[in-house]
Amino acid sequence: MRSAVKIALEVTEGQATLLDSQSKIANWLYNQLLERANGLRQQYRQSQDKQVGKTLYTERGLRDLLPSLKAQYPFLKTVYSSVLKNAALRLSKAIRDYQDGRHGRRAKAVNWPKFRTWKRRWFSLQYDEPHKGYALCGRSLTLSLGKDAAGKQLQLVLELVEALPSWVNLEHIRQCRIVKEGHLYSVVFTVERTLPNGKPLSPTKIVALDPNHKNFAYAVGSDGQAIEIQNPYFLKGFDKRIDVLKSKRDRCKKKSRLITRRDGSRFWLPSRRWLMLNARLQDVYRKRREQTKQFLYTLANRLYHDYDAIGVGDYVPHGGGITRKMRRSMNNQSLNRRFKQVLSWVALRSGKTYLEWEEGGSTRTCHECGYVVAEGIPVEVREWNCPAPLCQCHHLRDENAARNGLTRTLKGLGLPCSGRREVSSRRAWRFNGLGLTSGGR
Ligand SMILES: [Zn+2]
Repeated sequence: MRSAVKIALEVTEGQATLLDSQSKIANWLYNQLLERANGLRQQYRQSQDKQVGKTLYTERGLRDLLPSLKAQYPFLKTVYSSVLKNAALRLSKAIRDYQDGRHGRRAKAVNWPKFRTWKRRWFSLQYDEPHKGYALCGRSLTLSLGKDAAGKQLQLVLELVEALPSWVNLEHIRQCRIVKEGHLYSVVFTVERTLPNGKPLSPTKIVALDPNHKNFAYAVGSDGQAIEIQNPYFLKGFDKRIDVLKSKRDRCKKKSRLITRRDGSRFWLPSRRWLMLNARLQDVYRKRREQTKQFLYTLANRLYHDYDAIGVGDYVPHGGGITRKMRRSMNNQSLNRRFKQVLSWVALRSGKTYLEWEEGGSTRTCHECGYVVAEGIPVEVREWNCPAPLCQCHHLRDENAARNGLTRTLKGLGLPCSGRREVSSRRAWRFNGLGLTSGGR
C-alpha cells in the first residue's frame, strides 16, 4: 500500500537560494522540452514520421532528448539527473493524458500542456528511485545535486522539522520529492508498505457515525457513549481571510501589463502588489489545507484509539435545507469524502475495521420499535416522539439516526445486533486547532 508522508524542512537562506535555482532549471527544462514538443507536433501533423511520433508520444521519448540537451546547455548538469529526467517524464505524461482524452481513453479531456511560470508555481524536485540521490539519517536529509564545472558532485544537507512517523522505516521509502508552498519547503516521501495480512481481530468496541448538517457527525458507540462531533469552525476564519485577500488581489488585476516576448508571443505580467497578495493568499490556502488534514487525522486517530470498528453512514449531506453560505463554510461534501478516506487508511494502518452502512431511512425510523414515519422528519425538527401508540419513545434526531447506524454496522460486521443499547453518556468533541476538546452535555 502506497502513501505519502510530508515533513517540513528547516532551510537556511543560502539553501533556499540553491533549492530555488534547482527548481528554476528543472522548470526551464520543462519549457524547453515543451517548445520542442510543439515543434514536433507540427512536424508530425505534416509528415506522420514514425520517429517523430515516438519521441513525442511515448513515455520516455522526450527523456531521450536529455543527453543532447545537456551537451548543448552545460548548466543542466548542476541538477541531479533524476530530477531532470522527471521534468521530461512529467511533460510526456501531460502529452499522453491529452492524447488519451482526445481518443476517449480517459473520462475527462485535458488541454495540451502549457508553459510553466516558475514564479507562480515552484517546480518540485523529484527523486523517483529508492535512496538514489538522497539519503535520510535521523532528521538530516542529504540531497545530491548535479556536478559543478569541475565535475565535483554537489550536495545539500537539510534538516527535517520532525522525525519520520514511527510506522515508517527507511526501507519503506520509495521516492522523495522536495516541494515549496508559500515560503515553506517540505519533503514528501512516497512510502510503500505491505500491511499485516491476516484478518483483523474480531471487534468488540464498535461505533457508528452519522454525518449530517448540524454537526460534522453524530456518533453512538456500543459502549453507550454518544458523541456530537462538532463542525470544524476554524474553517470559517480561513474562508473569511481568503475572501478578503482574493478581492484585494483581483482589484490589482487592472495593473498587469501586456508584455510581448521576442518571439512575438504575449503574456500578462502581474503587478508586484498582485504577486504579493497572491503569495499571501496561497499561504492561507496552505494553512487551511494543513489544519483540515490535522482535524481529520486527529479525529480518526482518536476514534480508532477508542474503538475497534467504525461504521459511517454512506449518505453525504448536500444542499437540502441549508443555505449556500452554510454549505460553503462547512464544505461538508468533500470533507466527508476525505474523512472516509482517512478513516479507511487509519484502519488499515492499525489493523482495525472500517465500513459504511446504508443510511436510507435511518432518521425517520424509530430505533426502539422500528416504526417508520412515512413523511420523514423535517430538517429543523431536532427532537421528536415516536408516533407508534405503544412506543411513544422520545428521540434526539441525530442520536436516533446514529443508533440505527450502530445496528446496521453490527449487522455489517456479522455481529448480533439484538438487545437494547442505552446511551449512558453524551459529550461533544470540538477541534481547537491542536487537538480535540471534549465536553459533557
Ligand atoms: Zn417507536
